[in-house]
Amino acid sequence: MDILIGKEGNQPFLLTEASISRKHALFHMDERTGIMTLRDVGSVNGTYVKANDGTFKRINGEVKVGFSNIIRLGAVHTFKIKDLLSHSGGDDTGKDSVDISKLRNVYEIYNTNRMDLEAQTSSIMMLRLAAMTVSTVLVNVIVLTIPDNSMDKMTRGIIQAVGSIIAIGLAWVIVGMKNKNLIERKDQNERYFKKNYCCPKCGYHFGNHIYSNILAEGHCPNKSCKCKFTEK
Ligand SMILES: [Zn+2]
Repeated sequence: MDILIGKEGNQPFLLTEASISRKHALFHMDERTGIMTLRDVGSVNGTYVKANDGTFKRINGEVKVGFSNIIRLGAVHTFKIKDLLSHSGGDDTGKDSVDISKLRNVYEIYNTNRMDLEAQTSSIMMLRLAAMTVSTVLVNVIVLTIPDNSMDKMTRGIIQAVGSIIAIGLAWVIVGMKNKNLIERKDQNERYFKKNYCCPKCGYHFGNHIYSNILAEGHCPNKSCKCKFTEK
């Protein structure tokens, strides 16, 4: 692992002091052996290690360092080697917290589908009403075209009533098939949401909590999980 130290370095603290170079020193830790070294990478004002006698010695080339070594960059700024590792920001939070950016999509897809399906449901209800009205009117118009003298009033009335019932029934069934398909899609959408809108760690379903609120809270609402959330 390498940590570049300087104003443009990736050390876990900010360096702004004037005598510090943009690229000042390089810290290296061998992952296998744990041996840590430090070397100056051409800074203007030098890199120093505090010696046992209390004075700072400018380093030349690569030197071995330990956690408790005190380092000075340039004229003023000092820090301990362990400061480089203790709160090495990015890496630590990266390990604890879970990226939930996928859930933003899940939430948006679910809601878009849900609104779309609701709109289709209400238009199907309108369609059902219209189909029933139109078919009833149609049956009555057909009955009216039958010449007056071909049957008595009673038969005409029966044909009219039965015809209307059949027409309404047909309209209901045809529209109902469309509606059944819609109900299935709604069900599918709900299942997708329940399966995917969950904590990646414990699987807790977030219910109808808005995605941005969950992200703002920054942790799993499940009290026994409490895993941290971020968006990358
Ligand atoms: Zn959780």
